[in-house]
Amino acid sequence: MMGIPLMGKICVICECEKSVGIHLYMSFICEECEADILCTDTDNPKYTFFLEQLKKTTTPYLNK
Ligand SMILES: [Zn+2]
Repeated sequence: MMGIPLMGKICVICECEKSVGIHLYMSFICEECEADILCTDTDNPKYTFFLEQLKKTTTPYLNK
């Protein structure tokens, strides 16, 4: 359990490496995306995108 190359974590939404953010279930969301999600209306198509991104990471591997 060594040699983890990342300084931060990969945000599941923007897929960028960030050091500050929150953990949601198995996923990591950076603070920018978190703020973005919070101010996005659930009717907004962007919100669906956020959900899809989250779903990708919470889906078990065997369901690939
Ligand atoms: Zn992000």
